[in-house]
Amino acid sequence: MIAGFPDSALAMNAFVIDAFEFCRLKQQAQGEIPVAELGRLAQETVDRSGTIHWALSGDIDKLGHAQLSLAVSGAVNLICQRCLTALNFEIDSKSLLVLAKDEAQADTIEELLDDDEIDVIVGSAAFDVNYLIEDDALLALPVAPKHDVCPDGSVAAEAKGAERASPFEVLKKLKQ
Ligand SMILES: [Zn+2]
Repeated sequence: MIAGFPDSALAMNAFVIDAFEFCRLKQQAQGEIPVAELGRLAQETVDRSGTIHWALSGDIDKLGHAQLSLAVSGAVNLICQRCLTALNFEIDSKSLLVLAKDEAQADTIEELLDDDEIDVIVGSAAFDVNYLIEDDALLALPVAPKHDVCPDGSVAAEAKGAERASPFEVLKKLKQ
């Protein structure tokens, strides 16, 4: 669900469309956004580097619902939860989003479609595409990113049952 939109003064790079018109006219759009301009995503990375590529196309599904196809891709440097160094991660996400006019209609459509692959979201005439792109990128991230083998070789340490400090504990120590 897209709950509310960021304040327009804060969203420097807002890209706003009439979501229903976009679908009705079967429009398409694409672009690039620096990770550094996507605050919530940037927060998940070590260095705010990278660029997110996106492509959006509008359509009407067989049942007459407005439907957006969104592809989001790009490499970001996440923080490995084991060794706390950079972990390169390739975002490559495609989603199908059916638009509802409000929450109640979203629930109805969700039941009707009964398809986990399709998300139903509330669309609007002032729909912030960048916010949607950022949501999609965030959902594509692993919950607890870890290197297969950390540069410091901490896989071996874990195998021996050694407890690793949580990032919060490490931060606490750094602050002391
Ligand atoms: Zn690591």
